[in-house]
Amino acid sequence: MLSVAFLGLGAIGRPMARRIAAAGFPLTVWNRTSARATAFARETSAVAARTAGEAVEEADVAVTCLSTSADVRQVLDGGVLESLKRGATLLDCTSGDPATSRRIAEQLGARRVSFVDAPVSGGVRGAEDGTLTVMCGGEAADLERVRPVIESFGKKIVHCGPVGAGDAVKAMNQALLALTIWGTGEALVALSKLGVSARVALDVINASSGRSNASMNLFPERVLTRAFPRTFRLALLEKDARIAAQIARDERVPAPLTQLAADLCTLARKELGEEADHVEAVKVIEAWAGAEVR
Ligand code: NDP
Repeated sequence: MLSVAFLGLGAIGRPMARRIAAAGFPLTVWNRTSARATAFARETSAVAARTAGEAVEEADVAVTCLSTSADVRQVLDGGVLESLKRGATLLDCTSGDPATSRRIAEQLGARRVSFVDAPVSGGVRGAEDGTLTVMCGGEAADLERVRPVIESFGKKIVHCGPVGAGDAVKAMNQALLALTIWGTGEALVALSKLGVSARVALDVINASSGRSNASMNLFPERVLTRAFPRTFRLALLEKDARIAAQIARDERVPAPLTQLAADLCTLARKELGEEADHVEAVKVIEAWAGAEVR
């Protein structure tokens, strides 16, 4: 059985690592804030390593799930690069940027370590249930080797193309997510002011052509209830939308909406702070309008 190291026990990394442990893979974990790793090891069969380098020494597959590709770069330079064994694979589940992933893959390749970018979608609940969508970039043979690990937390696993292709698809998906949250928010605040209940409006929209994950799941579960659980930071959605806008610029595709998605996320994050959840962006529209979605 492949031995696995997992680096980055954040909101989504934790349940993903838990699935890997539950599937029976020998697992070593590391987290920058070490208390998170020791707590995880207490609750599971995993071993907590003192350093990231130590965590990956014996690993056939090292999984990273950090905030950004820059963080992956930093962890690699901080001892992981030199500790990875020949023939190992770095499976990067960070929602990263394609250009940095390609540079990392090249550097690892020189040491006979392969790289697969494998960002995920489906949220914390999808990670807990093992039903994440996993979009992968890299060599098909490298993906096949690590597929059993991905299958412990992913349901739909798609090979999107060469290194960076998974990151690119993820970034575009996220820009669409930001746009549908913002657009649905505008629509429902306006309808609420007009006197149409948001519940009634969503009932219609979700049986009509304006529906989306935002209207079908996020608004009913998080906005109408005013629960706004903190599962995915707005700052991370902002990062994703910025990657999407950069890809469009690199490919010389005029993409005003993608850029707007990034700019609206920045605006909302500055209003609401680094820890705000992505769905809380709706509160900015509500504050501007002087009315809540109700
Ligand atoms: P969190 O902010 O909850 O956790 C980030 C993790 O990265 C923490 O373990 C943090 O360590 C670690 N980290 C950040 N910077 C560094 C660094 N420089 N060196 C070492 N460790 C670092 O993020 P999430 O778990 O929510 O997200 C992780 C990735 O998954 C992101 O790319 C995100 O966009 C993506 N994602 C998240 C989803 C979600 O629903 N939450 C859904 C799909 C994708 P520490 O504990 O010390 O802060």
